[in-house]
Amino acid sequence: MIDQQLEGRTVGALDKMTALVTGGSRGIGRAIAERLARDGATVAITYATDHPAADDVVARIHAEGGRAVAVQAEFGTHDDAARMWAAFDAAVPDRRVDILVNNAGVSCYADISELTEDDFDRVFAVNVRSPFFIVQHGLSRIPDGGRIINVSSGAARLALPGAIAYGSTKAALDTFTLNLAKQLGPRGITVNSLAPGITDTDMNASWLRGDSEAKSGAAALAALGRVGAPADIADIAAFLASSDARWITGRVVDATGGAGL
Ligand code: NAP
Repeated sequence: MIDQQLEGRTVGALDKMTALVTGGSRGIGRAIAERLARDGATVAITYATDHPAADDVVARIHAEGGRAVAVQAEFGTHDDAARMWAAFDAAVPDRRVDILVNNAGVSCYADISELTEDDFDRVFAVNVRSPFFIVQHGLSRIPDGGRIINVSSGAARLALPGAIAYGSTKAALDTFTLNLAKQLGPRGITVNSLAPGITDTDMNASWLRGDSEAKSGAAALAALGRVGAPADIADIAAFLASSDARWITGRVVDATGGAGL
């Protein structure tokens, strides 16, 4: 169990642990994967299409003396979770995941008047249905004392009409977290949502990068006065993965720099 192995040790002691970070090839997932690897975990990342980006993460972790493997997995279709786990099992022979980070997700910028049913189905399939079934199929691989971290968003609790479906997916994910934490508590598995605010990744590149007005507007949303960096989120994920966070479960951990205070 994580708690027994890590009790009394500091954040960063994840040796002998295996972590799976979905969407670990870019952005927030990449930063989480690299941080968990630095903390000693063997890390499996998934990517959808950007094979070179995934290879780059693995190479970077290896260069720093860590252990990592990339697994191709496209989410948002039926049986995606089963296929992902089959690929994971082929890459990680002991089939064990101490730390599962459901990070892969897609945005959806449309208000209620513009949103199509296809947009709605797509964003719910990737952001909600996939994590549900990744956990369902993964439960036998997560040992007692393990960790599940669902990457949610501050958009679940802020009114952002231009991203109404996206915010709704993250609210659904938070309710998933709550129920799962209750069910898995007896096994000592903690389940938490980690909710970033606006973070500088490819997801926001179209409107954030290269537009100083948009960037200062986004920065002003956070009490701490700047846009988040992937490492800001990764450091909190590392805490939630660690033994030090063993008494937190079923919660949404805010990682917005104080958005909307
Ligand atoms: P990102 O830079 O766009 O990276 C997305 C990652 O997820 C990539 O590894 C990508 O793989 C993978 N992915 C995307 N669609 C996928 C699909 N259909 N199937 C499988 N994998 C897929 O995103 P990010 O900004 O780091 O976001 C990561 C998480 O944080 C998401 O859940 C997002 O909702 C959440 N979040 C982000 C922000 C923000 O401001 N950036 C704020 C709050 C919450 P490929 O490289 O192969 O495409």
